[in-house]
Amino acid sequence: MKSVQIGGLVSFTTIDYPGKLAAVLFLVGCPLRCAYCSNPHLLTPHDGEYDPERVFDWLKSRVGKLEAVVFSGGEALMQGECAIGYIRRVRDLGFKIGLHTNGFYPETLRRASDLIDWIGLDFKATREKYPDLTGQHIAYDNMMKSLDIWRETGKDFEVRITCDPRFITKSDLIEIANILHERNVQNIAIQKYIPHFEDEEHKTDAAAREQFFCDCEMRTKINSMFASVAWRE
Ligand code: SF4
Repeated sequence: MKSVQIGGLVSFTTIDYPGKLAAVLFLVGCPLRCAYCSNPHLLTPHDGEYDPERVFDWLKSRVGKLEAVVFSGGEALMQGECAIGYIRRVRDLGFKIGLHTNGFYPETLRRASDLIDWIGLDFKATREKYPDLTGQHIAYDNMMKSLDIWRETGKDFEVRITCDPRFITKSDLIEIANILHERNVQNIAIQKYIPHFEDEEHKTDAAAREQFFCDCEMRTKINSMFASVAWRE
């Protein structure tokens, strides 16, 4: 079998898996082309910079020191069975497994769901705006299927909304919050869009980026709908 392609690695983080010391592996490849992507070097499948067996040996040396390994990307599930096989090996070392996902591969998520303990799922925009933002017409529907599949597992998760003012308004944010509330989602994170430092092409106004975070009335309303809302500025 082809080996998993790893394009990046964070050896220690306290913020990528809730309450756990974790490493993050960035798998190569993504089916989306989000306008704000800060990992363009990870989008096109290629032989990753990291030898998966060396990474695995290193993870063995971290048993007892780290608690979790988070698979990110790109979109880790784009590598299908290769990703699942590697996740299984890492899990067998005793780590909790996290996944940061755009939800584009619901059936792969279903197949991997026994191996994964927690996911952070991107909810990027309203259904109408998804194609403009991601370049994919089916991305929204796939993401919603992934959300429903994960909810059925009963495992913990967080839904993340990045507020890029080019693709999301305050009323969109309320609409998304309502959709998540109706589905009994408990934990969401509302993230400020921070332009990539090299992104001269896609300028946004600082006040437009800030608008989601300084509207106290809207924040209170959204806070009242969920068990936990992280406002990440
Ligand atoms: S889903 Fe993530 S990695 Fe893929 S294009 Fe969008 S921002 Fe980039």
